[in-house]
Parts: sequence; structure tokens; C-alpha cells
Amino acid sequence: MVAIIVHGGAGKANSKEEIPPRIETCKKAAAEGYKVLKDGGSAIDAAVKAVMIFENDPLFNAGIGSYLNEKGEVELDAGIMDGKSLKIGAVSGIKHVKNPILLARAIMENSKHNFLIGEGAEEFAIKQNLEIVPNDYFITKQKKKNFLSKFGDTVGAVALDKNGRIASAVSTGGTPNKAEGRVGDSPLAGSGFYANETYGAVATGIGEDIMRAVLSFRISLEIEKGIEKATESAIKYLTEINGKAGLIALNSDGNVAFVYNTEMMFHGYMKEGMEGPIGGI
Ligand code: ASP
Repeated sequence: MVAIIVHGGAGKANSKEEIPPRIETCKKAAAEGYKVLKDGGSAIDAAVKAVMIFENDPLFNAGIGSYLNEKGEVELDAGIMDGKSLKIGAVSGIKHVKNPILLARAIMENSKHNFLIGEGAEEFAIKQNLEIVPNDYFITKQKKKNFLSKFGDTVGAVALDKNGRIASAVSTGGTPNKAEGRVGDSPLAGSGFYANETYGAVATGIGEDIMRAVLSFRISLEIEKGIEKATESAIKYLTEINGKAGLIALNSDGNVAFVYNTEMMFHGYMKEGMEGPIGGI
């Protein structure tokens, strides 16, 4: 069984017109990630592929199109985890790496550390021959207009490959108008993303809330009840502590779950036996 689930953020849309194209990109990311898996690629390859589709689409709050911080700059975070080796790669506060998920992957695979920030992370990106762009590259007219948006269209993907390996990947510009130097849940393993041999998950929503719940790892607490129930319980707990977020998850049988307590969460998934990807809010 191979399967992938993706999300394009939880919150509420700024306008109705934003909804259909975002769902389309969710479907496209799921379909392209699925193709990687079908062609024998690893869960890491598939999750990275899906996240890069979002990072290169200005509609989403990751890579180009990220929200601006209070100083009018874009600061990016990303994370990835391999459920088999339990290896992690994470990055925060970067301003010039075109695809932050590639840097998170390079840290996981080629560095002795799990997490790099700011200038040191960017120096590592240069050594890894990753594409460097000016900060302006990330700033779109649309996101300037949505400076005070309530919507956090962060992106994420969880994939299961033919060897039963699960990987989770996430990328974000953080919350709109955030303080300079603010780090959210997204690059924090356990909060913004998590994967082991049983399941993988990625969270989206208000990072400060997600961290308090250690939301992606929280699914572990009731995983014996099945991925859907365990994911629902994690969001139920978040609601009890007045948090707002959504979660996507996938287990080693290829069962997917998506649960949120926000108005909507853009998502898409595709697994063996399906003719095409399903996308929704
Ligand atoms: N969780 C992200 C953060 O707080 C935002 C989001 O999911 O949209 O940085």
C-alpha cells in the first residue's frame, strides 16, 4: 500500500474565490506525491515533492507567497522526519532559501545536527548547493494585502511508501505579522510534525497553541484506537485548552485522517485503489 495526504493550511479563507484554486493545488500535490510513490520513490521523496509544489505556488504560506513578519520581511521554517530512522531535519528563521523543505532534508541527511537557524542554516544551504534568492522573491502583492490575515495557509505532507516507511514534511512562513525571530510549531518535531513506524502527522494552525498540545506527537497517546480516533482525540484536547488547529495523519496501513477545529483546512489525499486525488476543505 502506498498513500499520501497533504494540507494547505487551517483557518478561514480571506475570500470565497481563494478556495477552489487552493483545493486544486492540494489535489495536484497529492497526485504528484502519489506518482513518486507509485514509481517506487521513498516516502521522503514523495513528501518533499508535495511540499515543494506548495512552496512554489504563491497562494500558500510557504516559500513564495509566505506571510510577512511585523518588519515586512519573510522568515521561513520547515521540518521533516523519517519514521523509520527517526531522523529529523528542521530549519527556522531563514530568509533566502528558495525551497526550505530541501534545506530541512539536507540537514536531516547531511548534517550532524537536527535543527539549524538563521544565518548558519543559510551557510549550510549554500554548501549544499541549494538555490538562494533575495527576500523579495517570497513577497507577493496578495500577502502584503493580507498582512493581518487570520488564515495560516502553511503546508504539509505525510507519505507511506511501498517499503512501509512513513515520512512527514512541513513548510511555512509562520503566522501573519509575527514578531521578528518568532518560531512556531512547524519546525518543532512532535508539535508541527512527527513520524514513526506506525504513523506520521503534520499540524497547521496557531503554532503557539499547537506547541502547548505537542499536537503531532499527541496522536501516539491513543494510537491503539486507530488513526482517526487518535487524531480526533488530539484535536479534542486542543479544543479543551482553547487551541485552534488542524492535523493530517496517515498510518502504516495507508489509512488517512484529517481533523480540525478551525473553519476549514485545505487538504488532499490519494492512495492505492483511488482513480484520482480527493481534495477538500
Ligand atoms: N502553524 C504555523 C505557525 O504557527 C502557521 C500555520 O499553520 O498556518 O507558524
